[in-house]
Amino acid sequence: MKRLSALFLALLLLTGLCGCGAAEDAGEEKTEHSGLRVVTTIFPAYDFTRVICGERGEVTLLVPPGAETHSFEPTPQDLRRIESCDLLVGNGGESEAWLDTLLDGAEGGFRTLRMLSCVDALEEEEKEGMQDLHEAEGDGPEYDEHVWTSPRNAAAICRAICAELCALDGEGAESYRANCERYCAELEKLDAAFRETVEKGRLRTLVFADRFPVRYFVEEYGLDYYAAFPGCADDAEPSARTVAFLIDRVREQRIPAVLYIEYSDQKMADVVCEDTRCGKCLFHSCHTVSAADLAEGATYLKLMWSNVESVREALG
Ligand SMILES: [Zn+2]
Repeated sequence: MKRLSALFLALLLLTGLCGCGAAEDAGEEKTEHSGLRVVTTIFPAYDFTRVICGERGEVTLLVPPGAETHSFEPTPQDLRRIESCDLLVGNGGESEAWLDTLLDGAEGGFRTLRMLSCVDALEEEEKEGMQDLHEAEGDGPEYDEHVWTSPRNAAAICRAICAELCALDGEGAESYRANCERYCAELEKLDAAFRETVEKGRLRTLVFADRFPVRYFVEEYGLDYYAAFPGCADDAEPSARTVAFLIDRVREQRIPAVLYIEYSDQKMADVVCEDTRCGKCLFHSCHTVSAADLAEGATYLKLMWSNVESVREALG
C-alpha cells in the first residue's frame, strides 16, 4: 500500500499533475484512510458516490430513504452536516431549490457537484395526450431532473464524482479511478442490454399509465412514449380523457404491458389493464428507495436491471 502511494506520488511529480490536490503532507502521518466526508442529497448520488469512494470515506444520504425529495425540508442538523463535509453531491434543479437556499447560508470550504450539470439537460415535454400539471407555476422551461435514468448519463456523473474525489484526496486517486472504471464497465453492460432489448422488441413505444420521469431514458434509446403526466409530479387524478387516450394507444399498437412508476398507487395502470387486458410492469426511476429497500441492498444497477425486464415485456 505504502509502496503504491509512493509510486503514485512519484508519478504525480513526474507528470506535473500536482494540481490534483495531492496533499502536501502525503505519506508519513496519514497511515489511515483520509476519511473524506461526502454528503449526497438523493439515492442515485448516494449509490454512485459510495461505490467510487469505497472504504476511503464516509458517504451519507441527506434526504431520508422513502421521503418525498421534491418537498424535502432540511433541518439545522442537515446544515451542520453539510458545513462539515468535504464534498456535497446534489442533483440541482427545481426540486432541489431548498439546497440553494441552504447553501446561501452555509459556511465551510466544501465542494459542490450537481448531477444535472454533468449532462445535457432536457426539458420536460408536453406530449400528446398528457395532462399539464404545471399551469399554475408556468414560468420558464421545466427541466426533467431524472438525469441518471440514462446509464450513459450515469457514467458521466460517476466520472465527475470521481474527479471531485481525486481533487480532494490525491492519495486515493488510484483507488477512486479503479472503482469508477469498474462501475462504468457495469453501466456499459446495462446500456448494451437496453439497446439489445429495444432492437429485438416488436414496438418502439412505451406507455406509462402514470407519471413520466424518464425522458432521458427514452431519448437515449430512441423510444417513443405516451404518459399521463410529465415529470415526477405529485399524485394527481387523471381525467377520463387522459385515461381514454392511453387506452386507445394500447389498443392501436397492441401494447402488451403498460408501465407504472415506483410508489404509484397503480390505479391508472389497473384501469388500462382491465379495459385492454394488457399487463403492467414497474419502471423504477431510482429517484427514491425505501429504508427497507436500502437495508436489503437496493442499488441503481439492480433496479435498472429489473427495468430491462419490464421494458422487454412492454415492447413485446
Ligand atoms: Zn422524481
